[in-house]
Formats: sequence, structure tokens, C-alpha cells
Amino acid sequence: MSTRKPLIAANWKMYKTPSQSSEFVTAFLPLVHNHTRDEIVLCPPFVDIAAVVAGVRGSHIHVGGQNMTWHEEGAFTGEISAPMLVACGCTHVILGHSERRQYFGETDETVNKKLHTALKHKLTPIVCVGELLAEREAGQTEEVLLRQTSKALHGIAHDAAASIVIAYEPVWAIGTGKTATPQMAADAHHIIREQVARSLSHEIADKMRILYGGSVKPDNASALMSQEDIDGALVGGASLDPHSFSKIVLY
Ligand code: PEP
Repeated sequence: MSTRKPLIAANWKMYKTPSQSSEFVTAFLPLVHNHTRDEIVLCPPFVDIAAVVAGVRGSHIHVGGQNMTWHEEGAFTGEISAPMLVACGCTHVILGHSERRQYFGETDETVNKKLHTALKHKLTPIVCVGELLAEREAGQTEEVLLRQTSKALHGIAHDAAASIVIAYEPVWAIGTGKTATPQMAADAHHIIREQVARSLSHEIADKMRILYGGSVKPDNASALMSQEDIDGALVGGASLDPHSFSKIVLY
């Protein structure tokens, strides 16, 4: 039986204004009141963080950023730093989401730099890895997961690594309604955990939470979450509605 506390994170992507975020929180909090089995994290757009932090104050819900730069501060127009996220009340940050890799030039190297910075500032990083459809069809899934995981973890000190969370998100399953079968997800999680053991240690690999993401919905959450190696979910579309997200949290 795993001792890893499951983590269910909402990635709102570029949806919701501050007032819509507040409405979500008002409706969501009573639905998950007293639910402490899972760590719950809401990752709104940057401009909504203040509203969400204010809304969840006093509850067990955490708030995270969807991205950040590795720079501490400076002339980097449009960027958000780790200290800024911390100062706004964030405890988590998503790094290397496939939409960042696909549309905004995120690479394994920038994900690694961001991971170092997030850990330095005591943010819990949720590092996304996952193969494209063409890579899966070409039989390259394992190679892609090993590369993304090992490069993300490059140079990370063993003692700092325990808080890292990895999200396996097959790119072909994100926002498409297609979900990896529980067995496909479990196989990918096993590959990732073995690489974490090689990059860091078996002890860290045993402790590290590996989430599944990709069209998680209320009706498939429990089958996915019952897999031994799946320690939670990163949820996009279905996290935008408080009722559907609460059903996933309460899987
Ligand atoms: C995501 O954005 O990380 C994601 C998994 O999206 P969706 O749940 O909509 O597939």
C-alpha cells in the first residue's frame, strides 16, 4: 500500500477572469469540505491568483502557478518569477506543460532550469512529461519519457527532490477526450518511476508522486486512480466546473 498522498490539481489554462475564479471557489469549497485524503491544488491564470488565494484562505486547498521563469528578477518583459508566485500565496507550480513545450518553445533544458529555481524557492513543482501521438505510434514512448524525466532531474540534489511531483500527460490525450487506458498510464508511470530511481534513488522514487493527466473526467477518475503507480491527476477541461472537478477529487 502506497504512503504517497494523492494530489489532484486543476489546470485552468487560459480560462476565467478574477470574478469567475471567485465564483468557482465559492461553489467548490463546500463540495470538498473536510476532504483531506487528497492534496487539492488550483492553478489559475496569473491574474486570478490573488482572487483564488483570498477565496481559499483558511481551507486546505492550495494554489499554484501554471508556469514561471528560472530568473530571479530582471528585464524579462511578460515573465513571472518564483519569488512572485510565493509572495502571491502560491505553493505549487506546473512546469513544462505540453502546451508550453508545443507553442512557447519550452525545452527539456528550460524545464530543468525552472525546476532548480522552483525548489530553491520551496515551490512544489509539478513537472509535465508525455509523448506525442506520432512518438507513441513510432514505438518511442519509453525513450521520450526517459529523456524528459532524466533531463528534467539533471543536477537536482537528492535532498531537495522529495517534493517534486511528475505529471505523465500523453499529449494525444490532452483536451481530446481520448484517455490513456489505466494500464497504459500505469505502464508509463512505472517507466518514469524507474528513471527517477536511476536519476536520484529508489527511496526518492518510492516517495515521488506521479500524476496522470489527459482528459480525466468524473467517470474515468476512479479507474485511473486505482492503479498502484498513479498518485493523482492533473485535470484541464473538467476542472473548470466546480461540480465536475469535485467529483474527480472525491473519486
Ligand atoms: C492539462 O491541461 O494538463 C490536461 C490534462 O487537460 P485535459 O484534462 O483537458 O485533457
